[in-house]
Amino acid sequence: KAAPDLQTVVTEIAEEMAQRPDRGEVATYIPELAGVDPNQFALVVVDADGNIAAGGDADVPFSIQSISKVFTLTLALGMVGDRLWKHVGREPSGNPFNSIVQLERERGVPRNPFINAGAIAVTDVILSGHQPREAIGEILRFMQFLSGDNSIVIDETVAASEKRTGFRNTALANYMKSFGVINNPVDFTLGVYFHHCAIAMSCRQLAMATRFLAYSGRNPSTGLSVVSSERARRINALMLMCGHYDGSGEFAYRVGLPGKSGVGGGIIAVAPGKASIAVWAPGLDHHGNSHLGRIALEELTRRLGWSIFGT
Ligand code: GLU
Repeated sequence: KAAPDLQTVVTEIAEEMAQRPDRGEVATYIPELAGVDPNQFALVVVDADGNIAAGGDADVPFSIQSISKVFTLTLALGMVGDRLWKHVGREPSGNPFNSIVQLERERGVPRNPFINAGAIAVTDVILSGHQPREAIGEILRFMQFLSGDNSIVIDETVAASEKRTGFRNTALANYMKSFGVINNPVDFTLGVYFHHCAIAMSCRQLAMATRFLAYSGRNPSTGLSVVSSERARRINALMLMCGHYDGSGEFAYRVGLPGKSGVGGGIIAVAPGKASIAVWAPGLDHHGNSHLGRIALEELTRRLGWSIFGT
């Protein structure tokens, strides 16, 4: 049986998702996310040859939020290599994204780089030896480089709202600082963290930025190597186990791909050797992951036989 045409599948899924009444609930902790129209949807898939299949609002930028944590992890590993694992673990947490309880048991070392505490610890590593402004610029330029698109910006209003409401992130950072896990002034580290969460990107830009993880660390179109194949494989393993907070098991069960979600309703996913994928639907499920984004990815992998666990 011939493989179904990628653009046809993407268009079908985008149309099906547009019609569904169950849209989840948009995040409400900051006004910029609370005000997003939940009826938007986008799905972009880039295959090994660089063909782009796009459906829905593929060029509308949204707040990437925790999706940025995949890229800060990549940058931090590039800077300090395996020394990073002194600051953060590699185990799924099974707890909500902003949980503080495990930090006490594990002497301030967060369980993984994708829960808030872990991502703050990773950001602290990137910041060391730099001014906050330089670190923010470095992260933004990395996103622009990976996407091949210099128009990507940080939404300063979102960054300011994150800071104004970030009491729990501040608590997490202070708590880690008390164990010596954070090296820089807490305000500086959080400032960089809030800014990289506030990067605005479209699904097209995100799917391009994720390509290196689908092809052993290299962009197959340019031949440029971003990370070693070993590192790409390991980042994918972390996304599979920890990319959706306490919904990570459910995501692996239903979708079967490494992926990372953000509370802006975006998800990136990797079909190793086959494609990089970005989906966006602003309404979230009770774990804080995009409700229709997850369903769309489940449909995509089912129809294409792309789950890493088999067809
Ligand atoms: N900036 C958000 C926070 O730290 C990110 C949360 C997320 O996307 O999961 O609360």
